[in-house]
Amino acid sequence: MAEMFKKRAAFGKSPKISDYRAGKRHLFISPLRGDIFHICASLDPRYICCSTHVISHISNCPFECTYCFLQNYLTDATLTVVADSNAILDEIREKTSRQPWRLFRIGTWELGDSLAVHPLNKAALELVEGFAGLPNCILKLRTKSAEVTPLLDAEHGGKTVVSWTMNPPEVIRREEIGTARMDARLRAMERVASAGYPVGIHFDPMIMFDGWEHAYERLVNDIFSSVSPEQVIWISIGSLRFNPEMKKKIENNYPASTITAQEMILGDDNKFRYVRPVRVQMYRHVLELLKEAGAGICFTYLCMERWNVWQEVFGRYPDSIGHLDFLMAESVWKRFPGMCSCRPRKEKYMALEY
Ligand code: SF4
Repeated sequence: MAEMFKKRAAFGKSPKISDYRAGKRHLFISPLRGDIFHICASLDPRYICCSTHVISHISNCPFECTYCFLQNYLTDATLTVVADSNAILDEIREKTSRQPWRLFRIGTWELGDSLAVHPLNKAALELVEGFAGLPNCILKLRTKSAEVTPLLDAEHGGKTVVSWTMNPPEVIRREEIGTARMDARLRAMERVASAGYPVGIHFDPMIMFDGWEHAYERLVNDIFSSVSPEQVIWISIGSLRFNPEMKKKIENNYPASTITAQEMILGDDNKFRYVRPVRVQMYRHVLELLKEAGAGICFTYLCMERWNVWQEVFGRYPDSIGHLDFLMAESVWKRFPGMCSCRPRKEKYMALEY
């Protein structure tokens, strides 16, 4: 991975590259400027969102997923990483200590992949070890790489979840260019689980193609041949979505991709999605496969969907974003008690405002 970067700049002035794909080949190591810890920017009160928090210290990504929203989001596309873990941890400590009753799930993937920038995985390691001392926080690394070796000997204290976005090999080959192959991701998953990390799994974005049912069936079977459901803390399911401006960018950047050719509808959040019966069919299929694999015990939720889709898929839905936040904390408390410093209280979470 290191050879792919044409230029590096350490603590200087950002090269400010506007071309999205060119920016991926230039790594800029930045000092911390301003606050970096906040609630996920995709949170939308019209949906039942999981209200995760994020640290936005990575911007852009060396991988080239055709569906990546960054191609329509970044103005400065230079691949940038803030390499000041102590300052990041200080900010998180200060802000999360104001709500000691709350379990904060904190991701590092908002604007990039948590583990794709191999030369800087040391920064991920520093965060992993720092989170071991934060009582009400869980660090969420999310990746499509298999670069986990630096994590294996870390003093993680059971406070970091290592997660993978999972799609069948057919999708990886065509739409997740440059990412680790499925067998490498599975092997990496096995290794972190053996090192005591809880694992997260994200079937998001699910992508429709001929033979998708069997492909996802093989995928679920392969995952649970590598890790046991007891080692999986949560599973999210979501489907492909993008806004009209991004549709044009996908077609320009990745003309071989077929993801914009399918039937989709534009929602009132200005995003194209598969029509609702198709999404429900896909989600139900994966849910059924998870049950058959014994993974019904893992907390499973939908990403960016409304209550009516939850109802059709699960036969129930959380009352609010705060309720889903509580249900996730409660599941962690019951299944991974060392990760949660106090028993979650429903009324506290329900009173949160979004
Ligand atoms: S791994 Fe994530 S951040 Fe990187 S290109 Fe793919 S979708 Fe974008």
